[in-house]
Amino acid sequence: MGRFDGRIAVVTGAARGIGLGIATRFADEGASVAVLDLDEGQASEAAAGLASGDGRRHLGIGCDVSDSDSARSAIERVAAGLGTVHILVNNAGVTRDNLLFKMSDDDWDAVIGVHLRGAFLMTRAAQKHFVEQKYGKIVCLSSVSALGNRGQANYATAKMGLQGFVRTLGIELGPFGVNANAIAPGFIATDMTDATAARVGMPVAEFRQAAADRNPVRRVGYPEDIAAAAAFLCSDEASYITGQTLYVDGGAKLVS
Ligand code: NAP
Repeated sequence: MGRFDGRIAVVTGAARGIGLGIATRFADEGASVAVLDLDEGQASEAAAGLASGDGRRHLGIGCDVSDSDSARSAIERVAAGLGTVHILVNNAGVTRDNLLFKMSDDDWDAVIGVHLRGAFLMTRAAQKHFVEQKYGKIVCLSSVSALGNRGQANYATAKMGLQGFVRTLGIELGPFGVNANAIAPGFIATDMTDATAARVGMPVAEFRQAAADRNPVRRVGYPEDIAAAAAFLCSDEASYITGQTLYVDGGAKLVS
């Protein structure tokens, strides 16, 4: 028996990185998973790699979370293909880092659009199912950058906004059996942090080592670290936890 037997989970931005780690963990614990990502081919490839059998079926869906029609139609396709949704993880993300005076309108809009508008559109589409069945779990990916980070005015704003978003969802949806929480990761080794290494002109291994050296637990995080937290928050063991932000950062927040 897995914690998610019979559950239908939607994970956005799950063709790779943290989202793929979360999708993998849900499937390992019995869920059927809809892998959403911009490219349907990559989403389907990721879905095909998840543990299957014992009633689990997975689906890859091309979806731009920042587009209202795309978000709505993705949730409809999940309902038609797998069944009504029980779990939503708003994970899709982008960075467009720049100091404020160099940050363009597009840098701002792209980041706010994917993280904040995207989480809003996906959650609004999924809540219909949650409220009808009086059951739902929502997790949004915040970040330690929510606390402020040089060159990330757009990203920090979006990530702190998500913390306010889940607090409000907790109030509005709690009476309908829905829990909403955020996870704020520290440095996680993915393409996103590798791209930052490239941007600052450092080899990936050196960049990761520098992050590990600064961290109280002396290592970087991996998608599996975030997946473990997401699985707990989306399980029934966490049914009395809502509106919270869990920092999964090896203690980075303690020393920043
Ligand atoms: P990643 O490796 O860059 O993966 C992000 C995924 O989101 C990609 O597959 C990307 O698709 C997809 N995506 C981008 N825009 C999208 C859109 N409009 N609609 C649907 N999917 C979209 O990033 P990650 O490191 O796994 O990060 C996952 C989440 O954790 C993000 O919200 C990020 O901000 C957050 N986070 C990450 C870290 C970290 O250190 N890595 C730390 C704190 C928080 P494409 O490949 O097609 O672009």
